[in-house]
Amino acid sequence: MKPEALLHPTPAGLFCPIGNFHVDPVRPVERALITHGHSDHARSGHGHVLATRQTLDIMAIRYGEDFAGSEQAAAWGEEIFVNGVKVMFRPAGHVLGSAQILIEKDGMRIVVSGDYKRGIDPTCDPFEPIACDVFITEATFGLPVFHHPDPKTEIAKLFTSLKQFPERSHLVGAYALGKAQRVIRLIRDNGYSDPIYIHGALARLCDYYQGQGIELGDLRPATIEKSKPTEFSGAIVVGPPSAFQDRWARRFNEPLIAFASGWMMVRQRAKQGGVELPLVVSDHCDWPELLTTIKEIAPEQVWVTHGREEALVRWCELQGIPARPLHLVGYEDEGD
Ligand SMILES: [Zn+2]
Repeated sequence: MKPEALLHPTPAGLFCPIGNFHVDPVRPVERALITHGHSDHARSGHGHVLATRQTLDIMAIRYGEDFAGSEQAAAWGEEIFVNGVKVMFRPAGHVLGSAQILIEKDGMRIVVSGDYKRGIDPTCDPFEPIACDVFITEATFGLPVFHHPDPKTEIAKLFTSLKQFPERSHLVGAYALGKAQRVIRLIRDNGYSDPIYIHGALARLCDYYQGQGIELGDLRPATIEKSKPTEFSGAIVVGPPSAFQDRWARRFNEPLIAFASGWMMVRQRAKQGGVELPLVVSDHCDWPELLTTIKEIAPEQVWVTHGREEALVRWCELQGIPARPLHLVGYEDEGD
């Protein structure tokens, strides 16, 4: 069987005609397999959704209980047959519940890795390499210039800044699903046990992570309307970056704006966003991680879904691995 007969790109996303399902579809479909809860991969309105329990829970938190017609939870490593096609979910190490999906039929094995990373992250299960014929990878940071530093070193910068500016409220921008909880956990692992104040948009997801056994410590609402700005003097406040553009942020005591994102490697982006303290913390592979992963899995072919596809495709070809860009649209790297 040619791999394209088992899975191929369509405007709605990757489609398996034999199993009659899409993976991470960007428009409503009859049957969707979903890798993780970021809004560009997990959308509401599908007829049936198959995903990990945690991804289903996260979708319910974000979209409401009626986010799909029906749902089915996949356990790690469970063999599930969808119209005769075997599928299996394995951890992707991206955010809580994030999965790679193995799709197998008549000996042809295709892995859709969704978004993934290889670095240590105590807030989710680590990526597991899966032997396959076709490995489908993202390339968000698919250029040789992207090398992510050790996140511990990045978080240490926050503490250096707190020492230097003990009165200023340190506002740390981090996307609501995954990044915020990882940053909070990194702060805790640095030995910080004071309360951390969180924007309301993070509350339910942080609660959910804590309920799943991810210790985030003492989190309190950063509701400045009810308090005096000076109460947050020297405090760490975590919120979605979008909140930092509005009045909410300006009311804090001499706010110092930090932003935890893989994109903080690009100085221009930090500057444009008015970020005083860029923290390079990414939930995606950097260039060396992408190459290591492909070498380790050694697939027959590599397909690249989104990001900076061309450099990775070129690299694969130089290694003698046939590769092609899929030019999928609709994936915006929400989580980084
Ligand atoms: Zn993601």
